[in-house]
Amino acid sequence: MKRETKIVHGQKGYDKETGAISYPIYMSSTFRHPGFSRSTGYDYSRMQNPTREELECTLAALECGERCFAYSSGMAAITSVFYLFPGGSHILLSEDLYGGTPRLAAEFFAAHNIEFEFIDTSNLELVKSSIKENTKALFIETPSNPMMIVSDIQALADIIHAADGLFIVDNTFLTPMLQRPLTLGADISLHSGTKYLCGHNDIIAGFVIAKGEKIIEKLGLHYKSTGAILSPFDSWLMIRSIKTLSVRIQRQQENAGKIVDHLLTLANVTDVYYVGLADHAGYEITKKQTEGFGAMISFKVKTPEIAKEVLGKVKLIYFAESLGGVETLMTYPIAQTHAEVPKWLTSRVGIDERLLRLSVGIEDVADLIADLNQAFIS
Ligand SMILES: *Cc1c(COP(=O)(O)O)cnc(C)c1O
Repeated sequence: MKRETKIVHGQKGYDKETGAISYPIYMSSTFRHPGFSRSTGYDYSRMQNPTREELECTLAALECGERCFAYSSGMAAITSVFYLFPGGSHILLSEDLYGGTPRLAAEFFAAHNIEFEFIDTSNLELVKSSIKENTKALFIETPSNPMMIVSDIQALADIIHAADGLFIVDNTFLTPMLQRPLTLGADISLHSGTKYLCGHNDIIAGFVIAKGEKIIEKLGLHYKSTGAILSPFDSWLMIRSIKTLSVRIQRQQENAGKIVDHLLTLANVTDVYYVGLADHAGYEITKKQTEGFGAMISFKVKTPEIAKEVLGKVKLIYFAESLGGVETLMTYPIAQTHAEVPKWLTSRVGIDERLLRLSVGIEDVADLIADLNQAFIS
C-alpha cells in the first residue's frame, strides 16, 4: 500500500465491531480480564491502549520501522532515547538542532555522566575523527533547525555503525512523507509530533520509531516504567491529523518554493536558507535522500532592527514559536527556540539577531506574499 493511502486508512482503519470509520477513542485506563491468566491483549493504558496502538502501528509502517512509541511530547521522546545510554557514554550530535535537545543534554544527562559533543555532522571526516572508544551514538537533524544544514544519512549510518554506535535521526522537519531515515540506515527516527504530523497547532506529542529487537525492548521498558504516554484522546486527534499529512505537506512545500523566490527579491533580505535552492550546500544530498524539500525556510535581514520590525508588522503570518501547522508562523530563533542554547554554540552555526525562520502553511500564497511585502515596507 502506498504511503498516501496508508495515512488515510491506518493500520486497522475502521472499527470491526460497528463499522465506525473514525477509529474509536478507547477512554479506559484499565481492561477486564476474561479469566485468570488471560488477557484481551490490553491490561492497563500506560502499557497498551487500542487507540494509541492504532496510531503507533500507522507511524511504524510509514517510517518503515518495527515499532513506534507515542509520547506526550517530542522532548519526552528524546528523553527516552537518551536513557538508552549508560553513564560514561559519549554521544555526538549535530551542532545545529532544536534548542530543547542541547538543554536536556546539558541540564540533565550530563549529570548521568554522559558526554555530549556538538559537531558539524555535514562534515563526514569530522564525524569520523570525533568518534572515541566510548562513542555510543550519533544524533542528527537533517535539515537542521534553524540553519537547514543537510547531513548525509546513509554515509553517517556507515560511519557510526562501524564504531558499533546507534544512529538517531530527528525527522521532525520532513516527516516520513519526504524522508525515511530507517530505510537509509538509521536505527531510530524520532519526531516532535507537535509539528507536521499534528499539523494544526493543537496537540503536543512525540514519537520514537525504531528497528532492532534489543533497542525496542529497552525503549519499551523505559516507556511503560516512566509513563510519558500519549493520551487516548490526543492519539485519536493525531490519527485524524495524519490522514491529511500528504496534502498538507504538498501545499506547504509548494507555497514555500514561491515564498523563497519572493524573499530573494527583497532588498532587505541578505541570505535565504532553503534546501530546495540549487546553490544550497546540501541540495544534491537532499535530492538523493528525500522526496521533497519541505516547507521550512530561514533567512537573514540586513539589521537586527529590521528583523524586530518585521516581527511586529506581520499580520496574517503569526509571530509565534513552533512549526509544521496549516498556519504560517514566523519565529525569531535567537529569542525563542534557541534562547537557552549557549552563545558559543548558536554563534558557531550562525544564529544571530538578523535570523528569522518561517514555517509555511497552506494559506493562499499571494496573501502570504502580500503580508511579507507590507511587513518589509518601512
Ligand atoms: C519542537 C521540536 C522538538 C521538541 O518537541 P516538543 O513536542 O515541543 O516537545 C524536538 N525536535 C525538533 C526538531 C522540534 O522542532
